[in-house]
Amino acid sequence: MSESSWIRHYAKLPVVLQNLACTLAGIKMRRTRHNRVFRDAMRFLDESQWWTAERQREYQDDQLRRTIRHAYETVPYYREVFEQRGLRPDDIRTADDLPKLPILEKQTVRDRFDDLQSRGWPTRRQVHLATGGTTGTCLHLIEDMDTAPWRWAVQWRHRRRFGVEFGRPFVVFASKGVVPLSNMNPPIWRRNLVMHQTYVSVHHMTKQNMPALVEYLQKRRLEYYAGFPSALYLLATHLLDDRASLGQPPKMVYTGSETLLPHQRSAIQQALGADVGDHYTPSEACAFISECEQHSYHVDTEYGVVELLPLDGGPVDLRRIVGTGFCNPAMPLIRYNTGDLATVSGGDCSCGRATPIVEKIDGRTDSYIVTPDGRQLGRLSTIFKRTPAIAEAQLVQDTLEHVTVKVVRSDTYTQEDDDRFREDLRRYLGDVILIDVEYLDQIPREDNGKFRQIVSKVFRDRYKEAENAGSNT
Ligand SMILES: [Zn+2]
Repeated sequence: MSESSWIRHYAKLPVVLQNLACTLAGIKMRRTRHNRVFRDAMRFLDESQWWTAERQREYQDDQLRRTIRHAYETVPYYREVFEQRGLRPDDIRTADDLPKLPILEKQTVRDRFDDLQSRGWPTRRQVHLATGGTTGTCLHLIEDMDTAPWRWAVQWRHRRRFGVEFGRPFVVFASKGVVPLSNMNPPIWRRNLVMHQTYVSVHHMTKQNMPALVEYLQKRRLEYYAGFPSALYLLATHLLDDRASLGQPPKMVYTGSETLLPHQRSAIQQALGADVGDHYTPSEACAFISECEQHSYHVDTEYGVVELLPLDGGPVDLRRIVGTGFCNPAMPLIRYNTGDLATVSGGDCSCGRATPIVEKIDGRTDSYIVTPDGRQLGRLSTIFKRTPAIAEAQLVQDTLEHVTVKVVRSDTYTQEDDDRFREDLRRYLGDVILIDVEYLDQIPREDNGKFRQIVSKVFRDRYKEAENAGSNT
């Protein structure tokens, strides 16, 4: 049966059978994610996070040399790149040598998909996956069967830093497609009993469905919550508006897949009564960055080399995240441009880990409004700080002089809120940009369920120009 006919059949099943189907899928998922490789990696990562900086570097350079040699010997694209530049694998001995190689763009991965795969890699070890890019286009990749257990081990190290133990019941707010879009009524969750997971579909988190969701969560008392920050923020604002609580708060809330903004973090903490631990985990298996107990973002150096490269014409501390992954020999990505940005920070973290830290993850390169006077605005917290009655807002910049602001108002939104919001918006964007405000019941998500706060065509075009001018940085 083809995948699309499976989905059609699944959508027609009663909820109880959909839960059973999710549980059956969970048996396979558990085997491929949480196997012996995962357990060994967890043990290793528990220890390696406390290594000295020198030992971390040695390990990283060792893994890098192994990855480079493997790519040179078995991946046609990399053999070609090395030959064109007159390089041999021995020319890349440490992370400092990486700039000898070009940046790998997403488009090149698409164009040279076959040539980027390791020749002769056993078919039985290959896993095909499609990542949902925030640009709305999807990227196909091949992974080795051990890549996912490694990814999950790094993610679980992050979770365990905050006292949550593996295997405890949890809820994830994401876009898994397990709640069919053909029925928008509750229940908007499905269960995978073997992995103790409850999925809540972000596509179904409408105002009408929120009371049923809250009632369900109050009853279930799940140990931790995970998912897109925009979805957890929606839940938080609903609870705050209704002056309601979850009863027994979860131990921890984990966010990822989208940029966590300061106002989202504080609303989630306040409404759900739990600390928030954020992590950056692009699906291309090349660069992971996870928060520690002190809320510093540490690079997960065992997973790959993360380069933070200056953005031409951008603020000095704002950098492009470029990753070289160690955990996917089936299709190694070397100096892959994730298309995301981070703000660098100086200094060490008081937690005692010696791995590099960044101040924060800034999200997509097109997540900035460009003003005619040359500013780049990416932090929306100033707009929301004084108006919590805004449930959601999205800024769409189509030209340098024009921004459309899409707003979802909560039930408590007043004229006074509106005046204040418009005043803050004007102060934030300046007088030279024309602002249109649209009120909506819901702001549509990307196909992959993610929410983008800023969509700027202008920033994307400028960034592309700068990228072309200064390629191979
Ligand atoms: Zn730390």
